[in-house]
This record gives sequence, structure tokens and C-alpha cells, in this order.
Amino acid sequence: MRRRIVLMGEEILRQKAKPVKVVDASVRRLIDDLTETMHAADGLGLAAPQIGVGRRVFVARDGDRLYALVNPQIVARRGKEVGVEGCLSMPGLQGNVQRAKEVTIRGLDRAGREVQYEVSGLTARCFQHEFDHLNGVLYVDHTKDLWWLEEAEQGAKVELPEGDEEADHFEDEDGRRVIVVRVPTTLAEAEAWFHEEIAAHRRGESVE
Ligand code: ZN
Repeated sequence: MRRRIVLMGEEILRQKAKPVKVVDASVRRLIDDLTETMHAADGLGLAAPQIGVGRRVFVARDGDRLYALVNPQIVARRGKEVGVEGCLSMPGLQGNVQRAKEVTIRGLDRAGREVQYEVSGLTARCFQHEFDHLNGVLYVDHTKDLWWLEEAEQGAKVELPEGDEEADHFEDEDGRRVIVVRVPTTLAEAEAWFHEEIAAHRRGESVE
């Protein structure tokens, strides 16, 4: 079942998730819900606290390969690399984050069997990001280099942030060229924005 993704500012994202005692039907259902919600939101990974469940479980994908990890532990980290991250709990926000280039992770799979994966690059980044979620840590805690992604149709007047060489563009579903603008921001500004979104959600106004 597709679940609502909680936003930064909701308490559960800052709480340490509890270990799973037994990989039973309820845990498999949680993994299925995480997977469905991740796909629906077009994300690369999703951790249980992001759908309001304080358990040490996350899912991730690498192309067609799907990972589900229960009680994961990162047992080795090698190298360092800075790369761009976003989070489904902070839509529209991105940041540059330093992570280990390669990690070895251990945990239980959907069937409760012990598994170990050695991954690198984007998948290693994703695993470290999702693992952090289980400890109440968000990628914004690791960086001050944050920006909002704003979109505008070509033709519309777009103010590029001064000194930003990385403005990008894409074509939307109607074939229109859309320019993406990166607007630098601070964590405090981002937090204030998401608190407003959450308040609107609680008043029953749709934020999506
Ligand atoms: Zn995230």
C-alpha cells in the first residue's frame, strides 16, 4: 500500500528507529509498502521512519535491482566523495554531501536471511543516506551547501543565482523546455518552509 511520506519537521524523522525482533508478515508488509511508496515517488531509497514507522528497515534500488534491509549495519567504509543528494522528506531541496565512496553493509533481507552487500557510487551514497534515517539523521545535517530547485518554462523570466554555473534544463511531458534554477538556501529557511507545509497538511489543506 502506498503511504504518505512524512516531511522534515515531523518528529519521527528525528527519532532513533527500533530494531526489528523477527522478520514476520508485518515486516514484509512494511517492506512492500516502502517499495511501493518509493516507486510511486520515483525515489532511489526510502526508510521506514519516512512513512511514520520507527523500525530499522529501508529499501533502495539500483536500476532494476531492489534491496530491502532489516537491522542494517555499515561494517566498512572506504574513500570519500562529494555528491548531490535530495530526500523525499524534503521535496525540492538538494545539497552537496560528502560520503564514503564504498560501503559494506550487513543486515537481514525480506526472508529474514543474513545478507551482506558491497556497493559503491550512487548506491553506496543511497545506503548511507537511508541508514542515517534510522538514526534520526538527515543529509542536511552533513552540509551547509543547500539549495532549492525551482522550475520555470523557457520564456519566463528566470533569475539565475549569482555565480551559479550549474543551472540545468529538461523537457516536460508536453515537450516544453523547462529551466531548473538552483536557489541557495539555509537549513533554517528550509525548516521553516516544511513546518508551514506540515501545518497546512494538519489543517487538511492539500500540499501535493
Ligand atoms: Zn531521505
